[in-house]
Amino acid sequence: MKHLIDTYKHKGKRKILISELAEMGISNQQILEAFYAIPRHYFLDLVFEDQAYSNMAFQIGAGQTISHPFTVAFQTELLDVKKGDKVLEIGTGSGFQTCILCQLGTKVFSVERHLSLHQKSKKIIEFFNFNAKLFFGDGYQGSPSYAPFDRILVTCGAPEIPNELLKQLKVGGIMVIPVGEGAEQKMLKIVKINDGEVSLKEYGTFKFVPMLEHKVNSQK
Ligand code: SAH
Repeated sequence: MKHLIDTYKHKGKRKILISELAEMGISNQQILEAFYAIPRHYFLDLVFEDQAYSNMAFQIGAGQTISHPFTVAFQTELLDVKKGDKVLEIGTGSGFQTCILCQLGTKVFSVERHLSLHQKSKKIIEFFNFNAKLFFGDGYQGSPSYAPFDRILVTCGAPEIPNELLKQLKVGGIMVIPVGEGAEQKMLKIVKINDGEVSLKEYGTFKFVPMLEHKVNSQK
């Protein structure tokens, strides 16, 4: 693959990004270390390589974007994973968030509705030798055959909390999901108390690409 080279310059920029994330309130040391271990520029087109360690979102094809580093770190912190957790991710996108979760020792199952992104992210995740399970499909369906999950992370803006995903969450499990129609979403952390009962807390406003139904066979 074309630009999978990690130089001292990249590493230096990553250290700066990590100290910025810490200043912005990310305190989980393991997450900050994962941001050092996974070179974000591997997930971007060459044209963005120089900016890969600024706190920005970038186009990744199919009209989608890789999330801001802060958003990835913030969602990961809220998800509160431990080694060995089974995590369902909705919206593989570039695969960056998937790799951060793998680096933290979780077993990731990730669903992407765009075929082109599914195929591209698969290659890069394999490059790291992570054994995540990647699906081309509609995240609204989750992954019934691998359910239930300890954690569910939605990385696109959902109009409401999908019932099917709640069903696939273990009792005591956590779901982190940005919810809201339109341009902005509220970040929610949901804990499943038992079937039919959840506790819910809000963590500020974010902007995500929308969670849309059905698979898309886009080749771009
Ligand atoms: N976690 C990604 C974020 C990408 S943006 C990253 O680190 O790069 C969100 C992604 O969610 C997009 O790739 C979009 O195509 C995908 N998406 C939107 N609706 C979806 C759905 N219903 N099922 C699966 N993926 C979906």
